[in-house]
Amino acid sequence: MEDKCQHADYTVEGALGAILGAVRSFASETKQDELLDRVCDTTCDALDFGAVSIALLDEDECFRIKARTDRRKGVDWTPESEFRLPLADLNILFKIGTKIGDAIWVDGRNEMVTRLAKRGSVLEKPVSIQPSAWLSTSMLIVPFNRSPEGLFGLLLPEDPYDGRAPSSLLALLLSTLASFASISIQLLEKRSYGDAQQRILYAQRLRIARVYRASGAVQRAGQLQEMLQATADAVTGAGGFRKAVIYLREGELLELRATSGVTAAEAGDLDSGSPVSLAHFAGVMQPQMRISRSYLFDKHRYSIPRGLEPFIVALGRMAGTGEPFGVDEILTVPITDQQKLLGVISVAGPDDGESPNLEQIQALEFFADQAGTAVSQMVYFDELKSLAERDPLTGLFNRRSFWNIVDQVVSSARGAGLSVAALFVDIDHFKAVNDELGHAVGDSVIKEVAKALSGRLRSQDVIARFGGEEFVVLVMGVDVSQATSLAESLRMVVSAVEVADLTGALTISVGVAVAESKSAVFSAHTLVEELIRKADAALYRAKVFGRNRVEVYR
Ligand code: GH3
Ligand code: MG
Ligand code: MG
Repeated sequence: MEDKCQHADYTVEGALGAILGAVRSFASETKQDELLDRVCDTTCDALDFGAVSIALLDEDECFRIKARTDRRKGVDWTPESEFRLPLADLNILFKIGTKIGDAIWVDGRNEMVTRLAKRGSVLEKPVSIQPSAWLSTSMLIVPFNRSPEGLFGLLLPEDPYDGRAPSSLLALLLSTLASFASISIQLLEKRSYGDAQQRILYAQRLRIARVYRASGAVQRAGQLQEMLQATADAVTGAGGFRKAVIYLREGELLELRATSGVTAAEAGDLDSGSPVSLAHFAGVMQPQMRISRSYLFDKHRYSIPRGLEPFIVALGRMAGTGEPFGVDEILTVPITDQQKLLGVISVAGPDDGESPNLEQIQALEFFADQAGTAVSQMVYFDELKSLAERDPLTGLFNRRSFWNIVDQVVSSARGAGLSVAALFVDIDHFKAVNDELGHAVGDSVIKEVAKALSGRLRSQDVIARFGGEEFVVLVMGVDVSQATSLAESLRMVVSAVEVADLTGALTISVGVAVAESKSAVFSAHTLVEELIRKADAALYRAKVFGRNRVEVYR
């Protein structure tokens, strides 16, 4: 075997023997830092590395060194505080590195590595043998994984005595060691955290915290979904239950939003019964079922509430196990924020087959509280966002948000080979309405005209209030004659608008401009800017020619 002689100082048998010997001692460690030290020692000694570090993922998504062994005489270098590897940079290393088994080999000559070294994500380490594959910035990364969160730590051996690039056999030995180490770390955590609350705390820490931290980003709906799914998965992953479903409240209904641990058939049952009315759900949340702040429904003690059969059937199905819980009991934990019911988490099928104890229930409640805070924050954020995006008088997009969505809407239309038309709409003699009837009537006119215009458009059309009594409409996939007849029909619907105190008919003038699908490709933004300028010029002509008419830009 080629591999055998690449690392002159160890044999496979010897290394495996050393690893297995050490693994037994991993299991007897009671403190995490001592366990990590022992893993570093073992890696150095069994596989002939000069030094080995272990970095664990902190809550801020950065790996930091938690343990290190350096066996080299005369090397006085302690990088612990210098090293900080953000998850994002690790992903870059994974991308540019070479996969050897489960390990990633990163050649220090890569230009990207030099850049990462500058910002402290890669260390410039002392090396014993130069020149060789192991440059000062070369890295061998062996991941520690656990379910359900995945990657949580890195084993980082450095400066092997032979200086050679790692072989696949070496990578395999390292992965074996890393697997044992990560199992031992998890066992230790289970033992020392002990109770369910701590287990859940841990499971949610990385995944949920990640979602919270991302809260500044744009896709709020997506993030809420992600947070709910992470919560459901954490309940089944670490909360001690096999099935979890999360419903969120929409008015007087509860809508199914996330499930974990349910089969496709069960999910189908759940879907068919969603949304559920709040009144029906109250059937599994009766005062006599209450434990702490949650409700334990026992199918044999209480009758199944009307409207909840799909829910009970889906969660109560525990094929062939014969375990009592799955068949009998469903625990429902309310998601609240300041006494307001926002949704529920329902779970079934405890891992231990026992009815949940108070401690477990309180752990789930802690979880539900986290979800409650997140949900209400997101609802609040959405309200703020729509306040910022919408014109308060008409509810239409304002000029700023119009430009924010133009790129997305128009780029995809152009991508699909569609033409784009802009209609510039201006109310005629609007100043006179204000002057003669007052500003309040003027406001009602703007509001009613906006409503009439929107009512005539399709959902994929975009309408924004551009100025006082001016509106811009974007329509995809129409030619000049279709755009013109749409403009005409807008003129018609506005002429029928009625506003209290207003006697004469309301009229608008409309300027139309169309960019054919074949026209030169600008950025969506430039294209629309140009279109609006042309539509505005056409509108000017409509005004000059006597108002209450449509003009096309030519
Ligand atoms: P034209 O037919 O040429 O369009 O005449 P016009 O009177 O409509 O023209 P102009 O654009 O000069 O008048 C717009 C007026 O709209 C001026 C401004 O006082 C008024 N205005 C702008 N924003 C609002 C608003 O939010 N509410 C009310 N009531 N009036 C507004
Ligand atoms: Mg105007
Ligand atoms: Mg006007």
